[in-house]
Amino acid sequence: MSIQLAVIGAGPRGVGFLERLAANLPEIANGLPLVVHLVDPHPPGAGRIWRSAQSPLLKLNSMARDVTMFTDVSSTVDGPVWEGPSLIEWAVQVRSGQIDLQVDDPLVAHELEHLAGDSFPTRRLQSEYLAWFYRRAIAALPATVVEYAASATTVTDAPDGTQLVSLDNGVVVAADIVLYALGHSGSSPEPEHVELLEFAERHGLHYVAPDFTADADLSAIRAGEPVIVRGMGLAAVDLTVLLTEGRGGRFVPSASLPGQLDYLPSGEEPLLLLGSRRGVPYHSKISSALAAPRAEPRFFTARIVAALEASSETLSFTRDVWPLIAAELQWGYYHELFVGHPDRVRVPWERFVPFLERYRWNSPQLHAAIAAAVPNPVDRLDLEALDRPLAGVRAESRAELQETLRYYIGLDLHARSAPEHSATLGLFTSLLYALFDLGSIIDSPKWTARSRAHDLSVWWPNYFSFIASGPPAHRLDELLALSRAGVVEFLGADIAVRAVVDEVGRAGHFAASSPSAPGEVTARVLIDARLPDAHVRRSDNAALRSLIATGAACEELVSDADFAGSTGRLLVRPADSRLIRADGDPHPGAFAIGPYTNAPFAGAFARPGTNAVAFRENDRVARAVLELAVERAAVPAQPPALASALASAMAETAQRG
Ligand SMILES: Cc1cc2nc3c(=O)[nH]c(=O)nc-3n(C[C@H](O)[C@H](O)[C@H](O)COP(=O)(O)OP(=O)(O)OC[C@H]3O[C@@H](n4cnc5c(N)ncnc54)[C@H](O)[C@@H]3O)c2cc1C
Repeated sequence: MSIQLAVIGAGPRGVGFLERLAANLPEIANGLPLVVHLVDPHPPGAGRIWRSAQSPLLKLNSMARDVTMFTDVSSTVDGPVWEGPSLIEWAVQVRSGQIDLQVDDPLVAHELEHLAGDSFPTRRLQSEYLAWFYRRAIAALPATVVEYAASATTVTDAPDGTQLVSLDNGVVVAADIVLYALGHSGSSPEPEHVELLEFAERHGLHYVAPDFTADADLSAIRAGEPVIVRGMGLAAVDLTVLLTEGRGGRFVPSASLPGQLDYLPSGEEPLLLLGSRRGVPYHSKISSALAAPRAEPRFFTARIVAALEASSETLSFTRDVWPLIAAELQWGYYHELFVGHPDRVRVPWERFVPFLERYRWNSPQLHAAIAAAVPNPVDRLDLEALDRPLAGVRAESRAELQETLRYYIGLDLHARSAPEHSATLGLFTSLLYALFDLGSIIDSPKWTARSRAHDLSVWWPNYFSFIASGPPAHRLDELLALSRAGVVEFLGADIAVRAVVDEVGRAGHFAASSPSAPGEVTARVLIDARLPDAHVRRSDNAALRSLIATGAACEELVSDADFAGSTGRLLVRPADSRLIRADGDPHPGAFAIGPYTNAPFAGAFARPGTNAVAFRENDRVARAVLELAVERAAVPAQPPALASALASAMAETAQRG
């Protein structure tokens, strides 16, 4: 009896799962007749986010050498490691003819020809890598793979255990096992967004709610008009690219400022008024190299974390974990400064170490020790100021704020590229390893409810992204050029946006102000430049909503004496990513992986050599799926074939309309 496996979602995680299925099948289910039904309206491999049908200007914010789809010697997976090329290795192998690949898009072909390890590739190039990975994975998979270019809308559990997956093209797939890899979904607008949309509609204005920038309709935005943009993260970077270069403007080497860019406008760009809570863009990626050997971690290591977890009754991120991470960040930063650049400090590293060991990360004593040992204030790390650079800044005028912001961005770019400031790389490296080590206790049942619902799922990923996962440096060079050209204006921190109507109540506009500078700006257009909230209850993904509505799965709720709430994630069993049903039992035949689940750190590409969490999870779930498939295959077929009768009836109904 063949086993029918439906995989819903064929983005990086869905196809990464298929690769692990191929790797594990010979050991667990050799000879099992398996049919894989792969459902996605977008091309397999790339899926929605990485599809080639998007602007060639949009890029990854990871370097080509930092992206891989393959397990390697660092991977502690139970299944076999199948090594393969990282993105840059793949590009080199395509160039040398070792990988036989015809790239039709001339822009991508040109990019591939010149790609280096430290290049930030376009999403279209990544699309080729992912499509190639997919073809290689299914070539190795001893199963029949049927592709459906459609969306799954509902999945119904039939009484005999079969799951009926209804697609939006009328097809119904009868599956024994379903793997959900739904990735990033949109979200139905929150009450504030509904109000703003209705206000815009009533007054002939334009409001863009949180969206995937590549998909947002920006055509209603007119040349020259002011646009208030709320958010300065990666979505705002993409938006700025699309509304400037995407409208025909060009960046050229500056005629007057050596090493900088000038922007030559096309005249089609709007005036972008950028503000956010922090009021500054994310710190750029770092291009300097470490001058000293990497610091041996001291305060936050896998061993320390495991001991902390074992000895604590409850784990609070802010109380127990953040102080250790903060100390580790200072350790990594100052180790590189003192050992790599002794000319920039007054005492040797060995004499400074006791201060880091003795005093809390933000104590006045440590600040005083730093001030005494590090003469140049630019070299002193202030973690609070790094997070909130505009705190306390009050410009006299908006013009002065522009100067302040340009100075800050220029300084930040210098700190992240100049060899003498490689301490920022020491900080980054410590932060990255803190992220990995935190992964080892992220599943602990001891976390407080607030830590789970807020600190670990909102604050920490946001902090990490702001410090370590910002845009490539050239995007900030471009932002400076746009600011000097008057196409971008900065609004400041903690911006407040109002929807304003005139006295007669007819004409309306949006207004924004910030404590960073006096005055208010007004505009006909307001854009919330951020990704939609990923809460499963508000998701616009029909399949996900149906899982919650039918009770086949549930959201992760957390509560303790201090806090009760929801993480907004789909609850899965850590051991094998099985859905947990609303009644609390594991689902008998459905699994879920990816960023909308409560599994940790599932939303980024793996870096080579880092024992990536996503690969381990893919491997675990692939093995669990195969074990279940073997179990199911051993059960004789159920007469009468109720499931197939139901499936035909549902397909007929769908086709009738
Ligand atoms: C805009 C954006 C930029 C990013 N940039 C980076 C980056 O530069 N570097 C990095 O490391 N990470 C980045 N990420 C993180 C991202 O999480 C991963 O790169 C990766 O896309 C996650 O893979 P996934 O398969 O889980 O999700 P997705 O890539 O979202 O794929 C999920 C797939 O499921 C399909 N699907 C969903 N619902 C259904 C349904 N009901 N029926 C059928 N198919 C369905 C979708 O069409 C989609 O193809 C970015 C994320 C976003 C949103």
